[in-house]
Amino acid sequence: MNALLEMHEIKKTFPVRKGIFQRIVGQVAAVNGVSLSIERGRTLGLVGESGCGKSTLAKMLVGLYPPSDGEILFEGKVLAGPDTGAEFDATRKIQIVFQDPYSSLDPRLPVGDSIAEGLVIHGIGDNKSRRKKVGEILELVGLPPQAGDRYPHEFSGGQRQRIGIARALIMDPEFVVCDEPTSALDVSVQAQILNLLKKLQAELNLTMMFISHNLAVVKHVADDVMVMYLGRVAEVAPVDDLFANPRHPYTKALLSATPIADPERRGERIKLTGELPSPINPPPGCPFHPRCPLANDRCKSEVPALLPAGPATVACHAVEEGRDAA
Ligand code: SF4
Repeated sequence: MNALLEMHEIKKTFPVRKGIFQRIVGQVAAVNGVSLSIERGRTLGLVGESGCGKSTLAKMLVGLYPPSDGEILFEGKVLAGPDTGAEFDATRKIQIVFQDPYSSLDPRLPVGDSIAEGLVIHGIGDNKSRRKKVGEILELVGLPPQAGDRYPHEFSGGQRQRIGIARALIMDPEFVVCDEPTSALDVSVQAQILNLLKKLQAELNLTMMFISHNLAVVKHVADDVMVMYLGRVAEVAPVDDLFANPRHPYTKALLSATPIADPERRGERIKLTGELPSPINPPPGCPFHPRCPLANDRCKSEVPALLPAGPATVACHAVEEGRDAA
């Protein structure tokens, strides 16, 4: 096993402030004890409803938030922990593609300058070599090299996402975090961007974390899938296994609501009842118990551990007790 990235019991809390003086009245755990491991060359899909902690996890990976507890290791070296600054600087090796590339592009700058920004910040190359590299990267993402002279408003949404990908790739990263990279795009354009990411991953041997609220999108790109609920891991499984045999009741509900071309799945729709609880005041025991059709008394008091279940690992008392067959 050759893990490029590991997370050990990662936790991220934020203060809850109230009143005119913004006094801290509590803590909210956006990410609560997440461990994972991604092998070189593989793509982990991270799925869950908005507010489940997936974007916070991504921001910790690229150094935008330090973890409150736990450790992140990259190539076996500590990248971040609660008491560490950037002990090991992997900013060049880990890059992120955002949902909305337009907001991260300066409208007054030709896109070539925005793409080259990382090279300038890290003092890589001179003007001539940077310009050449920008042209090459633009071609790699399916745009003409001359596109670097144009401004962000001259591009369509899909083209701008290609520019966002070019910005990430110009640093020759080993690991790319894609944070909902297609959710702001039309369906027809989504497929093009997903195909481009798959092609680039294979060509450049990238390791990726692909974050989405949409399981159908994740199915297209991921090797393994991690399902998160209220800051915790609910289930991790190889992608084919997760779609063929979801185990956690939350995964089953998510899957049943996902339009997937599989006639055998028709009629299996499981409707989630109730709202996603507030992470400020999470339910005791299993965080999913207020919405779970299989919840019992144990679920209301005991947080389920993440345990092996076939090729998956699942945090569910019903799976552990074998009463999840329905
Ligand atoms: Fe449902 Fe209990 Fe499993 Fe949680 S632990 S998902 S409440 S059966």
